Amino acid sequence: MTIPFIDLKSQYRLIQDEVKKGIEAVLEHGAYVMGPEIRDLEARLAEFTGVKHAVACASGTDALLMALMALGIGRGDAVFTSPFTFMATAEVVSLLGATPVFCDIDPVTLNMDPESLDTVIQRTRAERLDLRPRAVISVDIFGVPCDYDAVDAVCRNHGLTLIQDAAQSFGALYKGKRCGAFGTIGCTSFFPAKPLGCYGDGGMCFTDSDEWNDLLQSVRIHGQGRDKYENVRLGINGRLDTMQAAVLLAKFKLFPREIELRQEAADRYAALLSQVPGLTVPTVPADCRSVWAQYSVLARDAAHRDELMAKLKAAGVPTAIYYPTPLHLQKAYSSLGHKPGDLPVCENVGSRIFSVPMHPYLTAEVQEQVAKAMLA
Ligand SMILES: *Cc1c(COP(=O)(O)O)cnc(C)c1O
Repeated sequence: MTIPFIDLKSQYRLIQDEVKKGIEAVLEHGAYVMGPEIRDLEARLAEFTGVKHAVACASGTDALLMALMALGIGRGDAVFTSPFTFMATAEVVSLLGATPVFCDIDPVTLNMDPESLDTVIQRTRAERLDLRPRAVISVDIFGVPCDYDAVDAVCRNHGLTLIQDAAQSFGALYKGKRCGAFGTIGCTSFFPAKPLGCYGDGGMCFTDSDEWNDLLQSVRIHGQGRDKYENVRLGINGRLDTMQAAVLLAKFKLFPREIELRQEAADRYAALLSQVPGLTVPTVPADCRSVWAQYSVLARDAAHRDELMAKLKAAGVPTAIYYPTPLHLQKAYSSLGHKPGDLPVCENVGSRIFSVPMHPYLTAEVQEQVAKAMLA
């Protein structure tokens, strides 16, 4: 038996009738683009997230891009974010001609460190007279919410707009409030491997404001005005397929239970893997609930990580490294002029982190195998 890193087949078995019925209905009614399932999904996920509006779109990347386009981010603007994330978070900033500016991360939550964020904003204001600070993109890495009280305070102090990248944290809670509901616009992804995934690409923007909602709706469809052929601004083709909305409606029924199952799996891992000498298991702040997009652990150092990953591989346990190279040291960002040592916490974490299998259908037996392999 091979151990999957993420088990989408077990989930499919539970909902296949529902999924097939949903797709069949779309095939029958024929509204493949912006069909009734889109509105239905938007209404349900807005309610779940506790916000007024949800705007379904083609990917998490498009959700972020649409949010920045709605804000009018462009050349000369600085957007502050964490370098310990998936490329898309910063890439959308650069695609609009703006400049991503990276701060360091907290060594425990691995999310942006609000103090470092504040320092980097101040330094940018003082030294980069060519840049206009505009926005912050917070990332809830691996499903753990950022310290939103502190991040909000920094944004308010500096007059910056907060965009939440909740691609990994949809379903997670910060002080009882759902991820996706923070900032001016919250963004998430329905890539299959995310906590709530579809069977292809998908994403969503969330906002409480009627005005931002109107802008997002317009940007999603080529900057449309009153109708398709009136274009009042630049936009994109950012629509979610109706078929994927049908898939998500079926999967969403399982989602609340899946969040509980992920937490149970995380609790079992914490008990088992804290026995491994030199290994640090994740801790979630007391006022947060993670959605466990990944279960990522920290080895002592790079050599220790190599050793543990080799043992797991030999035992047939798949692993992954999120993320070995922080964005500020990626070749794509060489023009920013960073060098190793600039963001030391993030770089150190990148050198010793790795992730083990995590999904709602992970059994205690498999988790014991994972621990046994590391202890061997
Ligand atoms: C997956 C992810 C994205 C991009 O989502 P896509 O749907 O793959 O475009 C953006 N940010 C983070 C943190 C992600 O994990």
